[in-house]
Amino acid sequence: MIGTPSRQADEVELVPTIAELRVRLDAERAAGRSVGFVPTMGYLHDGHASLMRAAAAANDVVVSSIFVNPLQFAADEDLEDYPRDLDRDRALAAASGVHLLFVPDVAEMYPRGPVDTVVAVPPLAERWEGATRPTHFSGVATVVTKLFSIVGACRAYFGEKDFQQLSIIRRMVADLSIPVEVVGCPIIREADGLAMSSRNSYLTTEQRAAAPVLRRALDTAVAAIGAGEADGVAVTRLMADLIDAEPLAELDYAAVVDPDTLEPIEVIEGEVRLLLAAQVGRPRLIDNAGATMGTPMGALDEEDHR
Ligand code: AMP
Repeated sequence: MIGTPSRQADEVELVPTIAELRVRLDAERAAGRSVGFVPTMGYLHDGHASLMRAAAAANDVVVSSIFVNPLQFAADEDLEDYPRDLDRDRALAAASGVHLLFVPDVAEMYPRGPVDTVVAVPPLAERWEGATRPTHFSGVATVVTKLFSIVGACRAYFGEKDFQQLSIIRRMVADLSIPVEVVGCPIIREADGLAMSSRNSYLTTEQRAAAPVLRRALDTAVAAIGAGEADGVAVTRLMADLIDAEPLAELDYAAVVDPDTLEPIEVIEGEVRLLLAAQVGRPRLIDNAGATMGTPMGALDEEDHR
């Protein structure tokens, strides 16, 4: 059942309805086959493909979803313009080992319009991305809960690119005893260090050239912590100053946080997570990296795949 790079796009079956996906996956599990699940919003790139390959390597059946979820977009965000290309996505999914592509439309997912039931994880969701996008994570947690309920017991793959999202989903799954094993996967980057993102397609040539400043700021902070800098405020300022020095980037936040609670850390001991968000032209770019006190460059070398 596992896919190989030679698979054709039409070998990925498009499943548009909840009922059909449930029947298919229940049959697979009844036959003793394990299910890997990769939720996405489409316009796939190698970051998504890495999650699909990880799912294909560890499971008998791989299902991915493409659903641009209105619940997680604020009124002034890019719901209508979000890039879409189903033919290309289907080919990339096929080449990455996906068997079933769940492609519901909005009416299939939300037949009564906006849902009345909302899943929220306030302690993890209010800071950082949540401070700028206050309704975003409840939209994500709600749709992911719904997708987990549709897909059923599985291993589900999420990118560390969206580190706060991954933390929220792990907490939600634990709190609600959802029968899903959450697997976090490393950030996939372009050759110059920019973390891959569907929204990078909004960057102009000039902005695209400026965008790797986030990665450079993270590299510098990881190196400083590796060399023994223990002052969280000083490391935060180091990252902020580097972003501020790039005229095309406008810093939203730079932070040194506890990797489990996402609370800011003042005195760095052991492992921390560095978080960054900056507006570069139209897109808000986010990036992050792990760092360990006294371990030069260790976290980036281990975790990042280019
Ligand atoms: P999205 O389509 O942006 O909602 O992303 C779907 C999944 O792909 C999420 O789990 C993301 O964290 C993950 N993802 C997006 N970009 C990357 C990347 N550059 N590297 C690794 N995972 C990624």
